[in-house]
Amino acid sequence: MLQVHDSAARWRSFFEETCATEISTLAASWPSQTAFVTNFSTIQAWNTAFAELILEHPRATLRNADTVLATLCSESGYEADPRIRVIGLPPDALHKLRDISSEEVETFTTSEVIVTKVSELKPRIYNAIFTCTTCGNTIEISQPNELELIEPLECPDTAGGCGRRRSGGQTRFDLRWEDSTMIDNQWIEVQELPENVKPGSQPVRLSVLAEAELAGKHIPGERVRINGIPYVRTLKRGGAKTPMFDVYISLHSSEHKNIPLEEVTITPEEIKEIEKISQRDDLMELFVRSIAPSIIVGDTQMNSIKKSLILQLFGGVSRKFSDGTRTRGDIHILLLGDPGVAKSQLLSFMGTISPRGRFTTGGGTSAAGLTAAAVRDAFNDGRFSLEAGALVLADMGLCAVDEFDKMSGDDRGSMHEAMEQQRININKGGVSATMPTRCAVLAAANPNEKNGGRLVPVIDGEPSTYLINQIDLPQPLITRFDIVWMIKDDVIEARDRKIGEHIIRMKRRGTPEHLIESGEEVEPQDTQKGQIYARNVEGEDILTSDFVQKYVAYCKRNFYPKCDEEPMNILVDYYTHQRKEGQGSGNTVSLTARSIEGTLRMAEARARLFLRSDVTEEDAKHSIAMDKLWRYLSNEADLNTDDYSGIPKTTQSAERMIHAIVRTLIRESESGECVTNEIYNAAAEQSFNEDTVDRVLSTLRTRGTLWCPRLDIWRLA
Ligand code: ADP
Ligand code: MG
Repeated sequence: MLQVHDSAARWRSFFEETCATEISTLAASWPSQTAFVTNFSTIQAWNTAFAELILEHPRATLRNADTVLATLCSESGYEADPRIRVIGLPPDALHKLRDISSEEVETFTTSEVIVTKVSELKPRIYNAIFTCTTCGNTIEISQPNELELIEPLECPDTAGGCGRRRSGGQTRFDLRWEDSTMIDNQWIEVQELPENVKPGSQPVRLSVLAEAELAGKHIPGERVRINGIPYVRTLKRGGAKTPMFDVYISLHSSEHKNIPLEEVTITPEEIKEIEKISQRDDLMELFVRSIAPSIIVGDTQMNSIKKSLILQLFGGVSRKFSDGTRTRGDIHILLLGDPGVAKSQLLSFMGTISPRGRFTTGGGTSAAGLTAAAVRDAFNDGRFSLEAGALVLADMGLCAVDEFDKMSGDDRGSMHEAMEQQRININKGGVSATMPTRCAVLAAANPNEKNGGRLVPVIDGEPSTYLINQIDLPQPLITRFDIVWMIKDDVIEARDRKIGEHIIRMKRRGTPEHLIESGEEVEPQDTQKGQIYARNVEGEDILTSDFVQKYVAYCKRNFYPKCDEEPMNILVDYYTHQRKEGQGSGNTVSLTARSIEGTLRMAEARARLFLRSDVTEEDAKHSIAMDKLWRYLSNEADLNTDDYSGIPKTTQSAERMIHAIVRTLIRESESGECVTNEIYNAAAEQSFNEDTVDRVLSTLRTRGTLWCPRLDIWRLA
C-alpha cells in the first residue's frame, strides 16, 4: 500500500520522469512565476495508485510536492519556493456544494461555482522565523493554519539552541517579521451555479480560503471550477468552542470556464433540428408563440413586444477594437406600463428561458442590489469585501429587473456604466475591482406616481406626455435602453374578451398543485424535458422552453453577423432622416447616435435567429420597423415614414392619412362604423400595406381616437 509519507519520493520520481525541463524553466523564472501547474490525468497516467493517494490525502501529499519542488529548484541552483497546482480532477471528485459533507472533508474535491463575494487581501505569515531571547538562536516554523500562530515550545539544543523551554518562563521567543515569509490570503464566497438549483430553493454558499497567487485572482460574478480541500472549523460562541462546526474550502487551484454558455449542452441531432427549424417560413411567429405562451398576444403591440424580446434573447454582437474600446451587443429593453398588463409575467418568463437568465426586483433586499456593493465584515473577520449584484451574476446572460424605478440610489449611480460599458468599478475600503456586467437588461417600471401610477393618455404635441414625464427615472438612464415600450391598459372589448378567454383556458389546462405534490400528477415542466415541440392552449405548435434555450445558446456561440454596405445604407438613411425630422419637434429624448447602434444590434440579433453570418437588408428593415414602432407608441417620433423603406413616403404621416380614410369610411356609412377590410382596401389605393394599417389602427385605438366595439368593427370615439 502506498502511504502518505512515501509521497515525497514519489513526487520526486514523477517530476524527474515527466517534467524535468519544465521545472528548471520554472526555477529560473521564479518569482515572476510562482505556480507549477500539472494536470491530474498526467499523474494518473504515470501511477494510478499515487493519483488515488492524492485524492484521498491531498493536504499532506500536496505539501510534500511543494517541498520536493523547492528541493529540485535548489538542486538546479535556484532559490525558489513554487507551489504545485493540480488541475483537471476526475469526474468522481466533482461535487455540488450542497453535497459536500463530512465525508468529503480533507479529500480533494472539485466544484463548479459562481463567485459572489471576495474580501480584501491580507498578508499572513506562512513561514515564521523566531529568535530565542536568551541565546539568540533562530527557529523556523511553517504555519499551515490561518487562524493560529504556532510558536516554538523550546529552543532545541539539537539545532544549536540552548534547550530552554517557553513554559515556566525559561525563555521567550521573538517573531522576526522582516525575515518571515508572508503570503496573501483572501476569503471568497462561492455559490452553486444557478442552473443547478431547483426553482424556488436557495443556492448553497460556501466560504473559500484562497492563498498565495490564488488570492486576488477571482472577481465576483466569475464562473469557475474550484479544486480544493473542504475542512472544518469549530464554531465559537462568545469566545467558547462549541461542538458545532462550519465547513470551508481551502482553495488549491481553479480553472476558468471559457466556452460561452457552456452549461447548455446541445447534441448533434439537436443542431440538425435547429438548422431545420431555422428554415421555417413562420420562424418569427413560431418564436412569438413560444415566448411566454401564457401571455396572449391581444394586439399588435404585444406582438411587437414579444418580437423585441426574442431579438433581445439573441442579442447583437459585442466587439472590441484595437484602441481598447468595446461596443455592447446586448439589447436593453424597458417595459413601462400600467399595472396588470403582464409586465412581471413577461420578465419572469424571460429570466427563466434565457441562458444565464436572472429575475430580480429593483427594490430587492440583497445588500449588493443590482450592481455591486462593498460591505464590511462579510466573513466575520472585519475585512471589507466586495459583493456581486444581480447584473454581475447574470454576466453573459439576461437580467430581468422588475420595479426598476424602485432601485436604490447607489444602483442609480452605477447603472449607466453597468448598462453601457457593461462593467462596474468599485474602489472602497481597500478592495477594488472591475466586474463585468455583460448581460441584456430587461426592466419593467410603473408609471410615475405623480400621474397616479398610470400612463397619461398621449395627446398630440403635448410635452407633458413624453416618455420622460411618465417615469421616475433620470433621462440618461432611459436613453440606455434600446427600446422603451409604453403599455397602456385600455378598455378594448375585443382584446379584453380574447385575454379573458385565454386566461380561463390556460387555467383549465394547468395541473392542480396539490395533485403534483401528492404525486398523483407529474410536474408539467418535467414532461417538456428533452422535447422540441409542445402545444399551446390554442393547439398550435410551439417550441419548449428547454429547446428555445438551446437554440439561443447555439446561435450566440456560433454566429457573429456582420453588416455589409447595403443594410448599412438602409440603417444610416433611416437615422439621418429621423434626425432631420426630429429637429425642433421639442422631443425630450431625441434620436442620438446611440439609436443607430440600437438598430444595428436588432438587425444582428435577427440575423442570428435565422442562423446567418451576415445582416441582410431584410434584417435592417425589420429593425427599423421595430425602432419606429416603439418610438411612435412612446410619442417619441412621428410615424411618418413608410414601413420598411426608411424613406418618407409622403409628407403626410401614415397615421394622418389612414385616420382620414377611416373617418371618411365611417361618415359615408349608415351604421356609423366600418370594417377592417374596407380600411385595408382603401389604404391599399394609397399604397399602405396591411401591416401599416394594423399598426396605425392599434395606435389610434390605444390613443382613444378610434373605438373598436367588436372585432374588426371601427367607430369614431
Ligand atoms: P404587471 O407586472 O404589469 O402589473 P402582472 O405581470 O402581474 O402585471 O400581470 C397581472 C395578471 O394579468 C397576470 O396574472 C397575467 O397573467 C394577467 N395578464 C395580463 N395581461 C395578459 C395577457 N395579455 N395575456 C394573459 N394574461 C395576462
Ligand atoms: Mg408587476
